[in-house]
Amino acid sequence: MDVAQLGLKPGQWLVANCGKMPSEKNCRLVMMAPADQREDLLDAGVAHAVKSHGHQESPELREGVAKTLEEVTV
Ligand SMILES: [Zn+2]
Repeated sequence: MDVAQLGLKPGQWLVANCGKMPSEKNCRLVMMAPADQREDLLDAGVAHAVKSHGHQESPELREGVAKTLEEVTV
């Protein structure tokens, strides 16, 4: 299957790309959300950081994840 077949709605999307973070686990998780669902993506990113990377849930962690979000046009 081609990525175009995912049927993503054309427009602005936010990407959380764990592969760009320094990690001891070589994690390559990528999560995407439409720009208007930023909070959902942040929730997912924080949950992943806590569960898979042993971070402590905090407003600082959420802010840190928020800073890593990149915008892409689909
Ligand atoms: Zn990860």
